[in-house]
Amino acid sequence: MENKQIIFKGYIDRAPEITDMELRKSKISMREVVRSMEDGEIVVKNLYLSCDPYMRGRMRDFHNSYIPPFQPSSVIEGFGVSKVLHSKNHKFKAGDVVTGFTAWEEYSVIHNTAQLRLIDNSDDDDNSVPIPLSYHLGLLGMPGFTAYAGFYEVCAPKKGESVYVSAASGAVGQLVGQLAKLHGCYVVGSAGTTHKVDLLKNKLGYDHAFNYKTEPHLDASLKRYFPKGIDIYFENVGGPMLDAVLLNMAIHGRIAVCGMVSQYSLSTPHGIHNLNTLVSKRVRMQGFLQSDYLTLFPRFVEDVTAYYRQGKIVYIEDMNEGLESAPAAFVGLFSGENVGKQVVRVAAE
Ligand code: NAP
Repeated sequence: MENKQIIFKGYIDRAPEITDMELRKSKISMREVVRSMEDGEIVVKNLYLSCDPYMRGRMRDFHNSYIPPFQPSSVIEGFGVSKVLHSKNHKFKAGDVVTGFTAWEEYSVIHNTAQLRLIDNSDDDDNSVPIPLSYHLGLLGMPGFTAYAGFYEVCAPKKGESVYVSAASGAVGQLVGQLAKLHGCYVVGSAGTTHKVDLLKNKLGYDHAFNYKTEPHLDASLKRYFPKGIDIYFENVGGPMLDAVLLNMAIHGRIAVCGMVSQYSLSTPHGIHNLNTLVSKRVRMQGFLQSDYLTLFPRFVEDVTAYYRQGKIVYIEDMNEGLESAPAAFVGLFSGENVGKQVVRVAAE
């Protein structure tokens, strides 16, 4: 049978392009694959793959990070939702659906299953609102958990505080804003198109939203929405936006540095000029990785599933069709092509 794969061609020091990846079609014999399986391994059919900004970092020949770089000429790794076809692991059986690290290909042999999670819908009753499998890459996956851990643990929110979220309609941002609203905060978000701004205001429940690309002065825009200052900034983009936010922080404000997507492809990052605010306004600015908070994952799944099923939150996905479309879907993250969580459907469930 054929096993299509997306291959990472080699390291780059600019914004990723579709041609940095290539489609390889190879033939595999499933019988051979199964015969050579080692104890603990599973063979899966990949159903959905996740496109995430952190993957850009793996396209750089830089080893001093929390995750190693991709290997040139090798298949790309990433989060996925996959169906188990064969198992030599007592924790998984054929027919199970799992989520965790897999590869950008149709069929994968997964050796390291420690990070895999079984998607178990057996407790759902007939009346519960169904959760799409692909949501385990977004709302109930790594990005959703990033929003949950970042907002509750790093931002230390209080009812009534004012919250600003950049990349606010994306995989992480859209949940941060909704959790902040549920917490009783005043919430403003920014995004890069009129359509996304409309979604922020009319679907995701933000109090206000603006298009940062058409605002002539970010500082003035933020002053308009936060006349008394920003208590919490959930930082997703970095660069000039961070500088403008620093000028508008309230005393004892918190900045949760989740990511800086505007900086990932620059060889010289944008210098930040207004850090003195951290002193004058006694602001706490803290970077974090969702993986440091994994003990909270079960509580996150319980809380967010309940919010979703009770209709208290919604989630927007951008679904591309076919493994072939994965490079374009990934590249689009860095120019704001995605509307919501970017996922690729590889095969029917
Ligand atoms: P996303 O928001 O779904 O997609 C990326 C978005 O970033 C784009 O849609 C675009 O939205 C915006 N963007 C792209 N280039 C930009 C630029 N030059 N300037 C300003 N905005 C730009 O991505 P996500 O998965 O939710 O990730 C959001 C952030 O969280 C990223 O920085 C990511 O690295 C970080 N993250 C961190 C952790 C952690 O553990 N710390 C975990 C997951 C994600 P617009 O249309 O709004 O421009």
